[in-house]
Amino acid sequence: MKQELFGLTLTQLQNIVSELGLPKFTARQISDWLYKKDITSIDEMSNLSKKARQQLNENYIVGLQAPETVQTSKDGTKKYLFNVGELGAIESAYIPETKRKTLCVSSQVGCKMRCLFCMTGRQGLKSSLTAGEIVNQIRSLPEWHQITNIVYMGMGEPFDNLEAVMQSLQILTSDWGMGFSKRKITVSTIGIVPAMKHFLENSECHLAVSLHTPFESERKMLMPVSHVHTIEDIITEIKKHELGRQRRVSFEYIVFDGINDTHKHVNKLAQILNGINCRINLIRFHAIPKTPLKGTNEARLQKFKEALNMKGITTTIRASRGQDIDAACGLLSTKQK
Ligand code: SF4
Repeated sequence: MKQELFGLTLTQLQNIVSELGLPKFTARQISDWLYKKDITSIDEMSNLSKKARQQLNENYIVGLQAPETVQTSKDGTKKYLFNVGELGAIESAYIPETKRKTLCVSSQVGCKMRCLFCMTGRQGLKSSLTAGEIVNQIRSLPEWHQITNIVYMGMGEPFDNLEAVMQSLQILTSDWGMGFSKRKITVSTIGIVPAMKHFLENSECHLAVSLHTPFESERKMLMPVSHVHTIEDIITEIKKHELGRQRRVSFEYIVFDGINDTHKHVNKLAQILNGINCRINLIRFHAIPKTPLKGTNEARLQKFKEALNMKGITTTIRASRGQDIDAACGLLSTKQK
């Protein structure tokens, strides 16, 4: 079976060209074709010698994969579905706004973390994506030249697939790769502390932590991961890192009616986040089948936001996008319609 070139780093490409006895600069030419231009085959790499293309064709393919289906929301959000082998499918959400065009990518097929409020978690983990499969979600879209921001907030827990996620970030942000600014990429986690530490030390992209409550007992109920990685562990780790003015840490907070939307929560959030230069993104809960959870009403949501802002924590409410096509937060699941 031929090996895919898409998803390899410059160093890995250099190893391949060296094994084939090709000039070293060929690796950079290949990476430019893979990550900057609209080609799908080795034969289209027109500045490579005929011999180089022949040699590459013997054992390699480009390996891009177009999406299988697309659904378009009335608000313009698009949900793309990609097949990934026999193990299933993943979804990516393209969210166009006036200036910003954001792509929300998946990092795993399903997820093993079983957060109470999430459809993906109900599937269990089927497999983790390769770096190529992660970056393919960007590169294979018709809109890929327009994408300005990337968020790792689709299916899966990125830090449960750390190596591939780090490699995908390298491809996205390197000058030999797609050349995205590190300040335009956010990786979201439920707080797997050792992997988060590695990410904070080895990447300059933004971090988003799904917190959802400042109280441990409630978080254990909402997110089983809290039995292993506590809120205190997460906050302590983040405080160890000097993040600079440009790098952002945000806390994601789905607001549930009567569970995590009280004054007690505002005060506790202010206490535990004290000393961290961060912001909170409040997210409306999109009900999933057979859940006892309910979203807070709009008036209460606004009050909660204002109370947090009054405490000095920059807090915003995230706009819900693509709800009619199940592309909104927590709804990605590749379920059959
Ligand atoms: S919220 Fe994220 S980590 Fe939790 S089950 Fe869903 S995909 Fe997994």
